[in-house]
Amino acid sequence: MRRYVIAGNRKMNFTPSQATAFINEIKPMVAGKDNCDIIFCAPYVTIDAAMKAAEGSNIKIGAENVHFAEKGAYTGEVSAQMLKEIGVEYVIIGHSERRQYFGETDETVNLRTKAALAAGMKVILCLGEVKEQRLAGITKEIVSIQTKLDLADVSAEDMKNVIIAYEPVWAIGTGLTATPEQADETCGQIREALCEIYGAEVAEATIIQYGGSMNEKNAAELLAKENVDGGLIGGASLVAEKFTAIVDAAQ
Ligand code: PEP
Repeated sequence: MRRYVIAGNRKMNFTPSQATAFINEIKPMVAGKDNCDIIFCAPYVTIDAAMKAAEGSNIKIGAENVHFAEKGAYTGEVSAQMLKEIGVEYVIIGHSERRQYFGETDETVNLRTKAALAAGMKVILCLGEVKEQRLAGITKEIVSIQTKLDLADVSAEDMKNVIIAYEPVWAIGTGLTATPEQADETCGQIREALCEIYGAEVAEATIIQYGGSMNEKNAAELLAKENVDGGLIGGASLVAEKFTAIVDAAQ
């Protein structure tokens, strides 16, 4: 049985004091809603404040990226060991905005994934096709290749700590959402790729989220689909009522 995971990607929003206020606001709203894991991935400098505010609640705080080296001359970067030491369990890797604006490739996504897993973290690995690829009818090939490249040399054992977020790039922050059928079909194709790499047991056990303009109105339909095990939510994770409604849809 796969468990729903509802994760917010805060992107570059909220200062530390705003993060504290937000977590304090949403904490009572999601209290006792234990049919899903609830995670907010936040900018590095807000993690500490958000974690303090979330203490004793069912909300976990994660990071939005991590570097692949343990330490060294990588100005501006943060290692998995640093995140682990302050108690961060989850990290988003390979978000399309990182791929699009910061030169992230499947190779660096793979390196980051392996570094995070080696440090004992849980990874939310983002992948998905761009609009031209969907229109060309090659979505299945694209997500399958990304799955294989991003997870190269990740063991079946480590897959217990990997969540995949299927995020069609054309749906992120655009207000366009994949239909529940498209989301289910493509999450299923990612599961097929996992089956080819790891076999059916790992493929069936891996949590695959959908992300791309998921909101309080479309969440229930998306989450009802067999292969959709949760959501990675950007815009709607900034508004307590909207995010809570998505958590409710997962109950
Ligand atoms: C995201 O940032 O991962 C995302 C899915 O954003 P949005 O929900 O705003 O499309």
